[in-house]
Amino acid sequence: MSDADPEPMSLRKAEEFRWAGVEHRPYKDDQSAPFKAISRQTLFSDPRLLGELRYFEIEPGGFSTLERHEHMHAVVVLRGEGHCLVGAAVHPLALHDLVTISPWTWHQFRASAAAPLGFLCLVNAARDRPHLPTEEDRAALRRDPAVAAFLDGADLAKPLCP
Ligand code: MN
Repeated sequence: MSDADPEPMSLRKAEEFRWAGVEHRPYKDDQSAPFKAISRQTLFSDPRLLGELRYFEIEPGGFSTLERHEHMHAVVVLRGEGHCLVGAAVHPLALHDLVTISPWTWHQFRASAAAPLGFLCLVNAARDRPHLPTEEDRAALRRDPAVAAFLDGADLAKPLCP
């Protein structure tokens, strides 16, 4: 940070999952990756830090991009409920659960139909771009019925079989 850059505010007040002075943005600007009803707020980003902390919020029924990459994610659920796919496993998510996403692991987050899903996500400041699945990758993931149901956006609160 050069002498010309102002010091960040020591305190930025929170109100209903928005933070003073933090821009509330659509998840990704380039529209190149499939996602639905998700916003991003970058809470901490400073060249003197090695990491960034973001808050993502997915509206009911929405989802993040299915992707993988070399950089890791460390996630803390702060609001609502939903499910995540990490590798070959689908997990239910509740308040304050922690999710570790290792390098090159497929991952996607989905809010439940009835509630939003908000989570903090810690990442390296310097990170590689996400890779999207090929049709072959999707087919491999879908061999597990639980993963296929997740990818289809099924209501996972209901049993998979009638
Ligand atoms: Mn990711």
